[in-house]
Amino acid sequence: MASIDTLPPLREVIATHDLSAKKALGQNFLLDLNLTAKIARQAGDLTGMDVLEVGPGPGGLTRGLLAEGARKVLAVEKDARCLPALAEIAAAYPGRLEVVEGDALAINPLERLTPPIAICANLPYNVGTELLVRWLTPPDWPPVWTTLTLMFQKEVAERIVAQPGSKAYGRLAVLAQWRCEAQIAMHLPPEAFTPPPKVSSAVVHLRALDRPRFEADAKMLERVVATAFNQRRKMLRASLKGLSAQIEDHLTAVGIAPTDRAERVSVEGFCALARQLSQHS
Ligand code: SAM
Repeated sequence: MASIDTLPPLREVIATHDLSAKKALGQNFLLDLNLTAKIARQAGDLTGMDVLEVGPGPGGLTRGLLAEGARKVLAVEKDARCLPALAEIAAAYPGRLEVVEGDALAINPLERLTPPIAICANLPYNVGTELLVRWLTPPDWPPVWTTLTLMFQKEVAERIVAQPGSKAYGRLAVLAQWRCEAQIAMHLPPEAFTPPPKVSSAVVHLRALDRPRFEADAKMLERVVATAFNQRRKMLRASLKGLSAQIEDHLTAVGIAPTDRAERVSVEGFCALARQLSQHS
């Protein structure tokens, strides 16, 4: 199969730089450059866009993003062992790859990029959800990024796109779908990674909407949704009673049965309840 660039195959890169995978860093590498190019394509047309990549590792996805035409890639990697391999990629794409050594949870790399910005990453599973929630809850909307194209465990991906009434529906689904279009773009079996993880994976693509689907104060909505799903088996009149002494009246006023459970309430319903609580607090 033709390679996407003139750099060495990833197995060779890993052997040269002695990049044995570390479990503690969530290192499950993608070594098939055709697959990483395919993942990069799920981000849409990258021409003229800056891309943030978290956890480039030996650089398979980084190479895909650059080959697909990203204006600039900023890659944040915690494992210093990967830096020499990434420096080789930077040399092959002059001026287009900047690598930052560090913990993506501790820095705000988006500040260094110029919109339009895409975020694309095969995330370490242990920090993926936290980063996603941060990107979904910026102080202002629309956010600085246009799209998120992210690898998750299949089960987490299903929670992001889940519909009301399903077991997977919860806080992540409401946060994601309130202000984004969210879809699963690709499924990947464990064997696609080296070493293979125990679970299957999926790439989720999210596109930020210009404005939220339904009006609501973001902080109030986040509070209502977190409280409701914190005790998801309870009826809403019980799980939400800490939010207001008149919670039954507020639920009824917006057309939600106080005996319903959180997983049956639509994004629109949660927004209506957040507006009602904002008005009466
Ligand atoms: N993108 C590469 C690929 O697809 O082959 C590697 C993906 S691997 C699942 C996750 C990468 O994230 C590893 O390279 C790991 O060292 C890095 N990493 C783990 N925790 C990190 C953190 N907090 N900040 C930045 N990078 C991190």
